[in-house]
Amino acid sequence: MMEASDRPQYDLVLTGGTVVTLDGDRRVLEPGAVAVSDDRIVAVDATDRVDASGARRVIDCSGCVVMPGFVDCHSHLAQVLIKSLGEGLTTWDWLSTLTFPVTDAVQRDEVVAGTRLAALEAVRAGITCVVDNQYMPPDPETTVGVAGAMESVGIRGAVARGMTGSSPPAMAFRDSGSRPNYYTTGEELAIMADLLAGWSGDRLVALWPGPLNIAFNDQELIAGAAELARQFGTKWHTHCCESPGDPDVYRQAYGTTPIAWLHREALLGPEATFAHAIWVTHDEVAALAETGAAVAHNPVSNAYLAVGTMRLIDMLDAGVVVGLGTDGPAVGHRQDPFEVMKQTALVQRVRSETASVITSETVLETAALGGAAFSGLDVGVLAPGCLADVTVVDVTGPSCVPRQRTATTVVNSVTGANVRTVVVDGRVVVEDARCTTVDEQEVIEEAERAVANLGDRVGFDRFSASWAGG
Ligand SMILES: [Zn+2]
Repeated sequence: MMEASDRPQYDLVLTGGTVVTLDGDRRVLEPGAVAVSDDRIVAVDATDRVDASGARRVIDCSGCVVMPGFVDCHSHLAQVLIKSLGEGLTTWDWLSTLTFPVTDAVQRDEVVAGTRLAALEAVRAGITCVVDNQYMPPDPETTVGVAGAMESVGIRGAVARGMTGSSPPAMAFRDSGSRPNYYTTGEELAIMADLLAGWSGDRLVALWPGPLNIAFNDQELIAGAAELARQFGTKWHTHCCESPGDPDVYRQAYGTTPIAWLHREALLGPEATFAHAIWVTHDEVAALAETGAAVAHNPVSNAYLAVGTMRLIDMLDAGVVVGLGTDGPAVGHRQDPFEVMKQTALVQRVRSETASVITSETVLETAALGGAAFSGLDVGVLAPGCLADVTVVDVTGPSCVPRQRTATTVVNSVTGANVRTVVVDGRVVVEDARCTTVDEQEVIEEAERAVANLGDRVGFDRFSASWAGG
């Protein structure tokens, strides 16, 4: 008989649920248990093989699916402040008439309040890690404030600081509106270097250089961002070929396309992470695969803004690292990884007119394993040694019954509202579908006050009328 002192002293055991491990054997344990000590998973096995009797805490996950926490590979959390405004605008009009004026007017405390609300929503929906492409307002103190806001909710991630820099030649080919410039390219890179030099690697949220858009930024800024990432051992992030016009504008300015230029300059590599990459050629897909550069696929945003459908199947077949993203609250309107996964499958089927082109299992692998590779973190798999980021969804409700093929149910029937428990870094941050780290009502009210004040200054009423003055 095992003595009490021999029992494993787990900090936490999640037991009794269907455990979708996404490990090398793609084990699905029914029922299974996940044991956590400190910030790591230490055991994953059938329930009767994980001794929870000495655990500090046991959470009964009966009726639930237990899976790796989701990585949102591309978001703009603070865009919650403009959620529901600008529907139907082209991407460029949405940027130039709404987003850029807001960037000019918004205050740091408003951005922090918005970030906290969106991070709260994200973690409640099972997202445990967010790559936040933060850009408004552009001062470095706000970057630090956004990272702190994410950490206060208990979500992991990276703030990819959205640099703009000097106006590039490609901007001359834009037909309307102008993009604000806050710092020169040299100033932006110096600010970023200072921030990176002072950043602790122990923090839950990392810092990445994040030049906003390769088609709107000058080449020196992009090259400098990639260089900083290599110097400081981080990744770097940018929007790339989201709109059909982006490669054309770039070609007019430089005689090449963004990915071809990056490849030629040896700036592609595992530290390069791109949002969208919709308008890319076969050769560019091969270059991404060959170099290990990663892509965040944002199918809900892409459909909402009608910018096109990413060649996901080509990318996966070629071996490109692809993770999934929401692209933030203003273009997805829900920070919901399940909505993103479902849309991932649906748009590829519509694009190919072939129902068999993608399975729910492939979608789950893309979300979990792709998200892990994209972020560079030991997440996305429930296995000993991995970071303890876990999402538990209740599948006993009418939308999830009968559950006859778990991956299909998770991708097609579950929504973020089914999430019951979320663990980040070994800490239970959502319990019984409520966030444990913040006062939810206070976070909501703070964000509402920020929206009201910002809206008064920017004139949100121009965008908010439904029907005749409604
Ligand atoms: Zn974006």
